[in-house]
Amino acid sequence: MTEQAKVNLLGFSYAEMEAFCLDIGEKKFRAQQLLKWIHHHQVDDFEQMTDLGKAFRAKLAEVAEIRAPIVLQENISRDGTRKWVLQVDGGGAVETVFIPDGRRGTLCVSSQVGCSVDCSFCSTGKQGFQRDLSSAEIIGQVWLASKTFGPRRNLGEHPVTNVVMMGMGEPLLNYDNVVRAMRIMKDDLGYGISKRRITLSTSGVVPMIDRLSQDLDVSLAISLHAPNDALRDVLVPLNRKYPLEELLAACQRYSDGVEHRHKSITMEYVMLKGVNDQPEHARQLVKLLRNRMPIKLNLIPFNPFPHSGYERPAKPDVLAFHKYLNDNGLMTTIRTTRGDDIDAACGQLVGEVMDRTRRAERWQQTVFLRTGAGDAHNAPQQ
Ligand code: SAH
Ligand code: SF4
Repeated sequence: MTEQAKVNLLGFSYAEMEAFCLDIGEKKFRAQQLLKWIHHHQVDDFEQMTDLGKAFRAKLAEVAEIRAPIVLQENISRDGTRKWVLQVDGGGAVETVFIPDGRRGTLCVSSQVGCSVDCSFCSTGKQGFQRDLSSAEIIGQVWLASKTFGPRRNLGEHPVTNVVMMGMGEPLLNYDNVVRAMRIMKDDLGYGISKRRITLSTSGVVPMIDRLSQDLDVSLAISLHAPNDALRDVLVPLNRKYPLEELLAACQRYSDGVEHRHKSITMEYVMLKGVNDQPEHARQLVKLLRNRMPIKLNLIPFNPFPHSGYERPAKPDVLAFHKYLNDNGLMTTIRTTRGDDIDAACGQLVGEVMDRTRRAERWQQTVFLRTGAGDAHNAPQQ
């Protein structure tokens, strides 16, 4: 008989932790203590949980574990941005980025290994899709970042003040695990981050926007990138399934769904030289977005990566585009690039991982062919 795999408590919500405690014959209020040790103090060794009885700790060590992804690499940019390359089970790797900005510390979290949407300007998309991250692997990124900066003394007193689901992957295509992880981010027994400071960015999975509206209150960002369907079909292939009018109708429902939900929905617009940055595109954008729910448009000058085939527009062109939109009633900001010296900017996430992942993939395929085994967990990391 093989040894029973231990259950990883890192991705458990409050309700799941209570159920687990009952399951192993403990009182359910123990869930609170466990969650605080895990998420307030980033403790992963049950022995250190000193307010739990000895027998309970021994039982926990036997059946459970607290296991975050393994840090393969940590880079610190000259602007203070940090990037972690994390190894996840099965040979893949994802990236997490921390962006300090005054009192604010924003963590950019990944939701999948690779991405199936395959936007034409995104390096993650070029990598293809490997698999969804588990809720433990998603919240594990917040856990690791918090651990790096030391245990917090009180709720809210740690450098991760904001989370954006803008790392690798399409979060709404890994819905259940992303929502579970976001619940822990919001929960006071987790990270106590308010709904306004958690933003989910999506390329536009319409049915899942509606589901999210029912399930959890967080800020929404939409990767728009084009002012008409013909162009968006090319840049964001998911548009062929959920075209602009359907997407904007879902945004309207999201905005209307909860009273006083949020100030606005963010529309992200990556600026690609000669592709979507012309005055005509600005005019179309104004037409498309006026008289809708409150919107904040965020221009992201393209961050280049090898063989992308796209270029970043010249600064005066970005400024002129920005000015036209603002002058015509669209609240618009330009996103400053952070951490580009360590390849941590938007759309650059994968960098060295791509090779590593590809190599691991090839290796796994070889193992598969040689042994016929489906489990590549023991593949060596290269
Ligand atoms: N999959 C989600 C979230 C991750 S991408 C989504 O697409 O919304 C986070 C943001 O970075 C998206 O708006 C994405 O379109 C943008 N992005 C991707 N590649 C980029 C690049 N090379 N330069 C600038 N922004 C990019
Ligand atoms: Fe996936 Fe977002 Fe990249 Fe598109 S932009 S390929 S949805 S990660």
